[in-house]
Amino acid sequence: MSVWTEVGDRVFTRRYAFYDQNIGAILGDDGVLIVDTRISHRQADEILEDLKTLTALPVRAVVNTHGHNDHAFGNHRFRPAPIWGHARCRRMIRDTGKAQIAKVAEAIPALAEELAEVVLDPPDRTFDGPSTTVDFDAGGRRIELRHLGRAHTDNDVVVLVPDADVLFAGDLIENGAPPFFGDGYPMEWPATVERLVDLVTGAAVPGHGDVGGKAFVVKSMVEIRTIAELATLVHDGTISLDDAVLRTAYPADTARDPLERALAQLRGELD
Ligand SMILES: [Zn+2]
Repeated sequence: MSVWTEVGDRVFTRRYAFYDQNIGAILGDDGVLIVDTRISHRQADEILEDLKTLTALPVRAVVNTHGHNDHAFGNHRFRPAPIWGHARCRRMIRDTGKAQIAKVAEAIPALAEELAEVVLDPPDRTFDGPSTTVDFDAGGRRIELRHLGRAHTDNDVVVLVPDADVLFAGDLIENGAPPFFGDGYPMEWPATVERLVDLVTGAAVPGHGDVGGKAFVVKSMVEIRTIAELATLVHDGTISLDDAVLRTAYPADTARDPLERALAQLRGELD
């Protein structure tokens, strides 16, 4: 059974078996900030139920680390709390939400019914620049949201809790499996994670998998950089795609999609 784990002062994560996903709960004096809302209303309700075992405080704010279904499609169940995210996260949910639901429902038919219940409810508190600050409780616990550049998506947001040395990285990094590159910008991703490395002072919570620290983030950066470097060699004609697939840090059966996405970016097809 999963439980809340305190990864820093009054900062908790809970790891859900579905997609091996980490959800964050940051406690203030008079409320809670939730990081990511899972894929459906039912899964969001599970967070709200589990939260009761942690605190009686209400949810005062929500952050979406990016606009993917498993991070934002439970949003509606947390209203009337304000939901924060990057301006392009709002756009991603608005423009691709229905297609995302259809794709997951096709891949996981058992989930189709609960996905059909989802009311898409994108962030209403958005920012466009490199950073913003959320004051979500009367005690003034400050949470920083940073957009470090394009990477896993064009709207990844990192959540910093400076007084607890905790950072929620969203899917900029994942532990135990390669991150999903399908909406990513692999040629920019390594530099974005390099900026992330500089921000890690304690726990780094990935969107999926074990919580780590700076060493884990550096390892992830090297793995993603390898994809960008190998794709450059393929693009130049120095090596074949089949050879590149065998040289990444990822299992060969998962390396082709990241490389092909990087090649698409090198060919200028992503903008
Ligand atoms: Zn994602």
